[in-house]
Amino acid sequence: MTDITLAPIQPDQPSHLMATYGRQAISFVRGRGSYLYTEDGKEYLDALTGIAVCGLGHAHPVIAEAIAEQAATLVHTSNLFEIPWQTAAAQKLAEVSGMEEIFFSNSGAESNEGAIKIARKFGTQQGVRLPKIIVAEQSFHGRTLATLSATGNKKVQDGFAPLVNDFIRVPFGDVEAIQEAALQHPDIVAILIEPIQGEGGINTAPQGFSYLEEVRNICNQHNWLMMLDEIQTGNGRTGKYFAYQHTNIVPDVLTTAKGLGNGFPVGAVMTQGKAVGLLGPGSHGSTYGGTVLGSRVVYTVIDTIQKENAVENAAIVGRYIVDQLRAKLADKNVQVRGFGMMIGIQLPKDCAELVAIARDQHKLIINVTAGSVVRLLPPINMTQVQADDLLERLVTLINSYL
Ligand SMILES: *Cc1c(COP(=O)(O)O)cnc(C)c1O
Repeated sequence: MTDITLAPIQPDQPSHLMATYGRQAISFVRGRGSYLYTEDGKEYLDALTGIAVCGLGHAHPVIAEAIAEQAATLVHTSNLFEIPWQTAAAQKLAEVSGMEEIFFSNSGAESNEGAIKIARKFGTQQGVRLPKIIVAEQSFHGRTLATLSATGNKKVQDGFAPLVNDFIRVPFGDVEAIQEAALQHPDIVAILIEPIQGEGGINTAPQGFSYLEEVRNICNQHNWLMMLDEIQTGNGRTGKYFAYQHTNIVPDVLTTAKGLGNGFPVGAVMTQGKAVGLLGPGSHGSTYGGTVLGSRVVYTVIDTIQKENAVENAAIVGRYIVDQLRAKLADKNVQVRGFGMMIGIQLPKDCAELVAIARDQHKLIINVTAGSVVRLLPPINMTQVQADDLLERLVTLINSYL
């Protein structure tokens, strides 16, 4: 390996990075499974996994080998040629998702852009001049212009007017509001929602996953496309390969990214049933989408998730973490919610400062979302022993805080 050492960053050194993130003053140079390490060798338990990305943990040896071997063989040829790894990756993803057609992209937002285009094409084909898409309050769908317009968070949209038009917003879980919208807008063609709102605070609908079944019925009734954003909830995160598999329904359009590449930037938009065949030659594309390397990573990630029974593990260990948190924090005014390895602890007050306390005093990496929700996104293949380690650090942290 080449040995390149970066000069340490000086505190007064001007940064050339756009200040789009408020970064924590720490960096990790190495990772292994559920743990991250700083240059001076300090070990941190990672219950964030790069925001639901490294579901199989850091530096997974099988994924690392696939990347290294493919990088030394062939990285990219373009979609002007057959790419056997892309065909194989699509086959795998179809197998675990129940979808028929797959388009590979490079990020979550880009996958949702594909879904929005599919919905518009679907409407156009039926003679709808200005097709509309229903979206939910508190949703998050990305940072591109169309996806930030679909997002139900004013902070994400502020300053970027004019937004992309023709998204109709309803409260998450409110079926009557959807029916009401249907009456008001005859040109609705699709609905786009997350099964569990991640950025919004780990929220399922008040009626739970049966909301998805209700939405499916309404979509059938009105001939709309049911589109699910499983960018965060996919790839085993919630204890099923996709969260909608907690129900009996299948969406028409499904998007995923994050855990699909275990850190390698890939995404996918998938279709089945009446959404199949809407995007033909010339109607969509991406130079980097489904490169030889990216496709091999997708194939290897799914294959590894299957071989390690990581989805079942996420269900079992996730359930254990939730049960233990509920028992150990029973005397505190907290609400623990989530499925599999997507867990939120709703605290009775704003707790953004917990991120730094957890990191500095407990060597634990967590995130706080929606102001007062401690968000846990540990690796889906985390062992029970590591879960106990997580619980000990977390319970101590919350007990000393509340
Ligand atoms: C992260 C996320 C996105 C955006 O994905 P990017 O890869 O950051 O573009 C969209 N939807 C959901 C539900 C997400 O969690």
